[in-house]
Amino acid sequence: MLHKDLPKHQGKRKLLVETLMKKGIKDTAVLTAINSIPRHLFLDSSFENHAYQDKAFPIGASQTISHPFTVAFQTELMQVKKGDKVLEIGTGSGYQTAVLCTLGAKVYSIERQQELFKSTQKLLPKLNYRPKRLIFGDGYKGLPEEAPFQSIIVTAGAPFVPKALLSQVAIGGRLVIPVGNDPQIMHLYIRTDEKTFQKQEFGEFRFVPMLADKN
Ligand code: SAH
Repeated sequence: MLHKDLPKHQGKRKLLVETLMKKGIKDTAVLTAINSIPRHLFLDSSFENHAYQDKAFPIGASQTISHPFTVAFQTELMQVKKGDKVLEIGTGSGYQTAVLCTLGAKVYSIERQQELFKSTQKLLPKLNYRPKRLIFGDGYKGLPEEAPFQSIIVTAGAPFVPKALLSQVAIGGRLVIPVGNDPQIMHLYIRTDEKTFQKQEFGEFRFVPMLADKN
């Protein structure tokens, strides 16, 4: 049963995509990616029948896979183009990583928790998603050796906007980050030149909190 994507899953996925469109997602590349990705295979098999609801589910280590609407909304804000170098903070289940890979991005993704890092590192290639690099580390620091990135997405609630992440955005590039305590406000920073960022806010979302560095 595991690793199978059956017509019943595909049917439910199509309904999910219709729900996302009704909720305001317009980017057809994002909707097409979500339509193609077997979300049920990123979850424990006990959630198989629920995987295509617009809901968050536990993925172990006290973490959750984001709502499909949240994934779609954040990805839409990133405006990913094929070949873009992108950084994700919070690999988690790998579902958002798979969305970015499907859009043709060169994906770097950092996960703070070893258990999730290890399981997702195994899962993604099995499902034929090939990010450039998965990193076990602290997302607050970003990945300076690979910067700049065309876009950076943070998939956990950030208590503040880490300076390191802003500094690793390419000029013309974007940082999409939920900021604050429960709930968070979705923020988009567009880097207009070396020193200037244009900031926009997009309403309330609920994320698990970004973990502090343990070291
Ligand atoms: N993108 C994920 C969302 C998982 S929830 C998905 O689609 O499933 C957020 C993830 O961020 C969790 O896996 C959590 O362990 C991770 N995380 C929290 N703080 C972090 C940090 N400082 N650096 C990197 N990852 C972090």
